[in-house]
Amino acid sequence: MKIGIVGSGLVGATAAYAMVMGGVGREIVLVDLNRERSQAEADDLYHAVPFASPLEITAGSYEDLKGCKVVIIAAGVGQKPGETRLQLLGRNAAVFKQVVPAVVNAAPDAILVVATNPVDVMTHLTARYAAELGVSSQRVLGSGTTLDTARFRALLARHVGVDSRHVHAYVIGEHGDSEVLAWSQAAVGGVPLLQFCDDRSIPWNENIKQGIEDGVRNAAYHIINGKGATYYGIGSALARITDIILHDQRSILTICNPESNIAGIEDVTVAMPHLLGGEGVIGEHHPLNLTDGEQQALHDSAALIKNLITDLIEQGA
Ligand code: ADP
Repeated sequence: MKIGIVGSGLVGATAAYAMVMGGVGREIVLVDLNRERSQAEADDLYHAVPFASPLEITAGSYEDLKGCKVVIIAAGVGQKPGETRLQLLGRNAAVFKQVVPAVVNAAPDAILVVATNPVDVMTHLTARYAAELGVSSQRVLGSGTTLDTARFRALLARHVGVDSRHVHAYVIGEHGDSEVLAWSQAAVGGVPLLQFCDDRSIPWNENIKQGIEDGVRNAAYHIINGKGATYYGIGSALARITDIILHDQRSILTICNPESNIAGIEDVTVAMPHLLGGEGVIGEHHPLNLTDGEQQALHDSAALIKNLITDLIEQGA
């Protein structure tokens, strides 16, 4: 099973490393504008193989993506001094306008997984460019808030003292400042969070709630302040998404995928819980019984992304 990674910077290369360590797939091809970098990453990663799982890792060009079942797109350009968010977005859109057709032409059957930020907008544009070549939006998804959801579950799990795999809670909306922690849906082993805490005399109050919320929302800022970038968490999320697709695991993840309507905003891409399998995104998003406040926050988050998408398209993206 062959996987392509376009953009072998910190995020792309770390996703490859997580795949090597987790035994995801059989062959990984790294493609980057900077071929020296992708070759160096491929060589370095290949030296980890004898300590992990048998995998082939090479650096290549777009043609070498032929036969890939999944292609991760983590290519992007950094912000220039004085550049606005929209200008940066415009430059990344220009990169994707070239990258997406090159990937689809080489690997028409691949499922495209976008990791470049702002991931909701970049996923929307990827689906738009891929659709011009006949790729259905079911086969295009972004990492969305998979990482934010993992952070939310990890912090809740630590507080209640339960394995995070038995904590269900979602972060939805933009992967960014306007994201929404769907507190009303949080449950431990099927029991609503507040009831679980009450039944077991686990402390719960506004301060604890706020501490967890801040921990989820500000995680990326703290990490970037301390080490300049985040890549282990997102790299692991990308390896997991890839594994789900390769093995048709039908898992529910808060990925982002273009949808006709999210909280009243039409034709937009933000994260919601989606069923994911071997053919990509299965059906519409998983319905959530949100409170009015959460629904409003989701509406605002989707509206913010929709405005960015509209501005970009008006600029010719
Ligand atoms: P991140 O931390 O998001 O991974 P990096 O700057 O480390 O950011 O990585 C981004 C990668 O994307 C770089 O290796 C860069 O060379 C690559 N890249 C930029 N533009 C293109 C492009 N048009 N095609 C392929 N790769 C690209």
